Amino acid sequence: MERFDTVIIGAGAAGMFCAAQAGQRGNRVLLIDNGKKPGRKILMSGGGRCNFTNLYVEPAAYLSQNPHFCKSALARYTQWDFIDLVGKHGIAWHEKTLGQLFCDDSAQQIVDMLVAECEKGGVTLRLRSEVLSVTRDDEGYTLELNGMTVNAPNLVIASGGLSMPGLGATPFGYKIAEQFGLNVLPTRAGLVPFTLHKPLLEQLQVLSGVSVASVITAQDGTVFRENLLFTHRGLSGPAVLQISSFWQPGEFVSINLLPDIDLDAFLNEQRSAHPNQSLKNTLAMQLPKRLVECLQALGQIPELSLKQLNVRDQQQLVETLTEWRVQPNGTEGYRTAEVTLGGVDTNELSSRTMEARKAPGLYFIGEVMDVTGWLGGYNFQWAWSSAWACAQDLAPA
Ligand code: FAD
Repeated sequence: MERFDTVIIGAGAAGMFCAAQAGQRGNRVLLIDNGKKPGRKILMSGGGRCNFTNLYVEPAAYLSQNPHFCKSALARYTQWDFIDLVGKHGIAWHEKTLGQLFCDDSAQQIVDMLVAECEKGGVTLRLRSEVLSVTRDDEGYTLELNGMTVNAPNLVIASGGLSMPGLGATPFGYKIAEQFGLNVLPTRAGLVPFTLHKPLLEQLQVLSGVSVASVITAQDGTVFRENLLFTHRGLSGPAVLQISSFWQPGEFVSINLLPDIDLDAFLNEQRSAHPNQSLKNTLAMQLPKRLVECLQALGQIPELSLKQLNVRDQQQLVETLTEWRVQPNGTEGYRTAEVTLGGVDTNELSSRTMEARKAPGLYFIGEVMDVTGWLGGYNFQWAWSSAWACAQDLAPA
């Protein structure tokens, strides 16, 4: 049996960062992953450039049944701390939009940085590892792995959520939480595209690839102003991914397809200047032509000139385009979701250290717990902040 101070399950964002920090604090750390290489989600993230944090990180950007839980860790290891680390490794970055920071070059740089930080901390990395069993006694946690048995007083679960099973996601963390008597909240896919019911899907399929600025509102009143993308399966783009985390099956979302103008005033101005102009061409000044043509084919935009458009029809049109009510059929699920909502109940954990109250030495960090950020670098920041908080508590034996 090999002994360590800390065993960490999951060499993703949280696990690698925690391993590096704990190792650099003198811990003998074993970091285990079921995959062939560490940081697989990081490599896929941000279109290959990793949106590693956000300039505007704040607790309000996180969903949790316990909204205060994330405050301490986010305040103790901030976006500025991670930006500083990225800078020390010479990684160039830029702000894309809404405070979202991406590598100029490649997400591989973030993985290389984390690997280098782990090496600096003397971390032992064991890939392609399965955890067959976990038991606890006076000596701490004993893990049967494929091919070896290890023991440590500290066990950190950083195995992430259920999204993207193709990238190694498993329910391991939830099972361990349950094994040690911790409550696990129901999980569901978040930051995920919507699918649509058949007639609407077929009608909108011609728009696949069209992107528009939008303001999207969930039934609970949550609002995001981002781009919406029509796809061959339904609706996607940042606006839809964001609102999907606030959507429950059966609910509607309301979409303003013209958030940057006062449509009523625009139509009135255009009517004064060009009364014979067609409504279709007028709207095509503000919306993609394909979208206007599709809505006209669906009977949502009347085939009239501006001077023929009466007040009632204009009101109806403004409502259609600025309060378009859509009832999604569902989401694409964990297969394409960026995150998993729910998970290990944070009421079971210390917000300062991430340690389970009922199981001393057992910690949960990153996405496995019930803390989920908005789209835009917030989820990686939670991985860094929760991992850092945990690492401060991992004293060498
Ligand atoms: P993960 O990074 O998922 O790591 C968990 C690790 O545990 C994995 O390596 C997995 O293989 C391993 N594991 C799981 N089960 C076991 C087991 N039984 N035994 C051993 N190992 C196991 N967030 C952002 O902030 N910015 C982005 O740009 C961004 N882009 C994303 C793009 C995609 C396509 C996806 C899917 C997610 C994206 N996210 C992004 C979300 C972000 O990747 C996650 O929130 C973050 O990776 C969570 O970190 P984690 O360490 O908790 O879990």
